[in-house]
This record gives sequence, structure tokens and C-alpha cells, in this order.
Amino acid sequence: MWEKFRKFILTKIFKKHYYRTGKCKGCGQCCTHIYVKHFKHVLKDEKEFDKLQYLHKFYADLKIIGKDELGLIFECKNLDPETKKCKIHFWRPGICRRYPQEELFSMGGTLSDECGYKMEPIIPFKEVLKSVEKKENKKIIRKWF
Ligand code: SF4
Ligand code: SF4
Repeated sequence: MWEKFRKFILTKIFKKHYYRTGKCKGCGQCCTHIYVKHFKHVLKDEKEFDKLQYLHKFYADLKIIGKDELGLIFECKNLDPETKKCKIHFWRPGICRRYPQEELFSMGGTLSDECGYKMEPIIPFKEVLKSVEKKENKKIIRKWF
């Protein structure tokens, strides 16, 4: 009963599709392969990034290390390369505290293989398929009667 209620709140009120399970193993991977989403797009242009650096301190701490089909790839200067720990852990920005969130998927990103977190669908694929089939069957019945 509680589980059903929880699913209802997450999916209908908060419009979420995934649960986050697991915990951080401190591998530092997510701090060395970062995409930046600004409004609805992932940053692809270095000039746009130059302007963004004045908007938030987090951006000023990022260094461009590459680019792929998704956009610019950044590394955070606050990651200690030897210990793989965040040098400003206590003051780290909200985006780092909340990582990973399902918005990552909406911009085409994925969790690294080393990540200790997993994102599990709130409604399993089987249930989604069942409900689609039910709707389709209803449509067919309405068509015939
Ligand atoms: S501020 Fe810390 S936690 Fe956030 S990306 Fe940089 S190194 Fe990682
Ligand atoms: S990739 Fe996952 S396990 Fe590694 S530091 Fe980031 S959140 Fe933690």
C-alpha cells in the first residue's frame, strides 16, 4: 500500500521516472566527464561557455577537456587528481550534492560503469507494456462495438 502511494507521489506529483539506489564510491569519474546543460541545450560552443562562467562559480571551476556528439566535455578543477576526492566537499554546489538525477538521461548522458549509484525505473518496463496493451485492447473493442 505504502509502495503504491510512494510510486503515485513520485510519478504523478514530482513527474519522476526513476528511483536512485546505491551510494557513492568516491571514484571521481563524474567530476572528470561533465556536460553542462544550459536551459534546454547541452553546451557545444566555447564562446557561450566563456559567458556562462560569470553566472555561477561552478562554471568558473570547470575546464574544457574535449568535445563529442553530445557537447563540450568538462573536468572540475576541484577534484584532487591523486585522492579522487573533492577539495571543496563541504561547500560543493547543489548540483554535485544532488548527483545523479534523472535529468542526466534527458540530456543524453549516462552513469559511468564505476558509479556506485543505479537509476531504476519506478514503473518497471513490463508494467508500462501491460498498460499500453490494455489501452490498445480497449481501443480495438470500442472500434468493433
Ligand atoms: S565541485 Fe567537487 S563534487 Fe562538484 S564536480 Fe567539482 S570536484 Fe566534483
Ligand atoms: S561516478 Fe558515482 S561513485 Fe563515482 S564519484 Fe561520482 S557519484 Fe560517486
